[in-house]
Amino acid sequence: MPGDPDARRIPNFVDGADVGAQDGRWAEKRSPVDGRVLCELARSGAADVEEAVAAARRSQPAWATRTPVERGEILRRAVELLIRDGDELVAAVCAETGKPPRDARGELKAAVEMGYFVAGEGRRLYGHTMPSAVPHKASMLVRSPIGVAGLIVAANTPLPNYAWKVFPALLCGNSAVLKPSEDTPWSAHLFAHLLHEAGVPAGALNVLQGLGPEAGSALVADPGVDLVSFTGSSQVGRTIQTVAGNRLAKVCLELGGKNPLVVCDDADLGVAVKAAALSAFSNAGQRCAAGSRIIAVEPVYEEFRERLVAVTAELRLGTDDDADLGPVVNERAVARILDAVEGALTRGAKLLAGGRRADGALADGYFVEPTVLDEVDPHDPISTTELFGPVTCLYRARDLDDAIRLCNDSPFGLTAAVHTNSVHRGLHFAERVQAGMVVVNGPTYGSEPHMPFGGFKQSGNGFREAGTEALDAFSDWKNVCLIHDPDRI
Ligand code: NAD
Repeated sequence: MPGDPDARRIPNFVDGADVGAQDGRWAEKRSPVDGRVLCELARSGAADVEEAVAAARRSQPAWATRTPVERGEILRRAVELLIRDGDELVAAVCAETGKPPRDARGELKAAVEMGYFVAGEGRRLYGHTMPSAVPHKASMLVRSPIGVAGLIVAANTPLPNYAWKVFPALLCGNSAVLKPSEDTPWSAHLFAHLLHEAGVPAGALNVLQGLGPEAGSALVADPGVDLVSFTGSSQVGRTIQTVAGNRLAKVCLELGGKNPLVVCDDADLGVAVKAAALSAFSNAGQRCAAGSRIIAVEPVYEEFRERLVAVTAELRLGTDDDADLGPVVNERAVARILDAVEGALTRGAKLLAGGRRADGALADGYFVEPTVLDEVDPHDPISTTELFGPVTCLYRARDLDDAIRLCNDSPFGLTAAVHTNSVHRGLHFAERVQAGMVVVNGPTYGSEPHMPFGGFKQSGNGFREAGTEALDAFSDWKNVCLIHDPDRI
């Protein structure tokens, strides 16, 4: 957080300048560690959105005329500045989210690697050539910018969330208005300033602080926004698709998950337990790829359950590097998670671990104990609703095919994992499970910057982030035909 009290207000960043909301309103941001007010952020409304989008529209044509190589070089410089100011960025993320510095440092590295990967795309940005039926006609397909990109992201891993959208949006020649989560205003502010320092021109990247239903929804509705790229809940994604789709803007959605991890009877149970605990509880379960449905087959069910509960009991909540998990991001999340657990218990689920808010020294913060539930109906709301917290449910399957049936009996299809010593079973699972990412013998997450990430079903709308495929979200295809013997038309 800004050190001196006068700097505790985090403004918008529009057209290269820090500005408050036009009507002078500010929103409070509280610390997940102890609930005290950490800072205030500009509470932007429709007029601020209009100003930011206008700045983005003004700057876009000149930005798009830079060569992709030059844009990539500027982004590479930006990555070097992220590294230079890494300690400050990590401190901001820790203050905003309460996560241990180890996790925030890992996320900084992920953002850096994404930046380098995308910067390199400036030297590729490959299109295609194709033959024509017409003699003396050359045909090529080239990537073209879309215009102004409205980028709306969640709070869970702030730096990678910005990097995954801002870098490819800019590389492709768009200008952007980033709406970070109201829970991570300061990291977004620092990120944008570094990109500006690296040479991203005024107006090409703007940051609009504020609340989702105010700043976010105004951005989605603004006719000057040509593309909306959103990472967040399926519920908000549905509204965004409706509003932006209605004016035929391009909409790319990266949404929630209810990700299964399957344990077969030939699995290495030590590895499976470790992967299940990491999938469920790392980052306090605040991952779209969190393992929230753990499915073990009959012969190993009891032993796996016992070992998972034992490992869960050893996990330590806290904010230092010895802690296994930190708090969830706000008080609303605590209430949502604990309500869902309580509801499941009243409907017959059995509590094996956690299920409570942490007490003692952590009582003022938003710490939820790592929670394991058993005997949960696969159609109970807790089995079908994403909680985005440190809660996982256990399910019993007869065999691998029964487990796959349970995996696919879900509105989501983001990631899935299976634990087995059999190559055949691993591939059988990978072929049949409905998920955009499948891991054999690992946790339910693990995407890398060059690996396209996204989900089936209600986990998205078909686009991918990261990888070269991310460019499909942020550019349009233009077919250019060159007739080099005009006499032959
Ligand atoms: P959220 O949907 O409540 O909010 C996400 C962002 O949308 C925030 O910036 C918020 O201010 C904004 N927003 C909220 N209401 C809005 C509205 N009506 N119009 C426009 N913007 C609005 O989600 P969250 O609780 O912050 O984040 C958790 C969700 O994000 C989970 O569902 C998680 O799975 C998902 N997520 C998905 C991925 C992925 O790559 N698929 C990655 C990270 C998080």
